[in-house]
Amino acid sequence: MIEDIFCEILKGERKADVVFKDKDFWVIKDINPQANIHLLIVPVNHFDSIKEIKEKDEAMFGRIFQVADRAAIEAGIDEKGYRLILNEGQDGGKVVPHFHMHLLGGNKLGPKIVN
Ligand SMILES: [Zn+2]
Repeated sequence: MIEDIFCEILKGERKADVVFKDKDFWVIKDINPQANIHLLIVPVNHFDSIKEIKEKDEAMFGRIFQVADRAAIEAGIDEKGYRLILNEGQDGGKVVPHFHMHLLGGNKLGPKIVN
């Protein structure tokens, strides 16, 4: 069983560098940043997959982009641009089994997925 560090953070069992949070999402700094700014947008409710969100809370698909926009504005990178990444499933490179989105920016990102 892979550790769900996000549920542990949300329950206060593990520390994280929280940028901001609202009732539906927490935005935290990635502990292994792949760009000058590397944030994780984590839903408070645990979802395993995009398929599960589609079945249980489809409106979250819209809300997560609103949170990404707010995070980019607060990080000061909304004008210059940034990259959003979702790793879905084993082949997609998903490491933590709790749906989340990566926001990367703060420097020029190249044509490869990360840098
Ligand atoms: Zn979880």
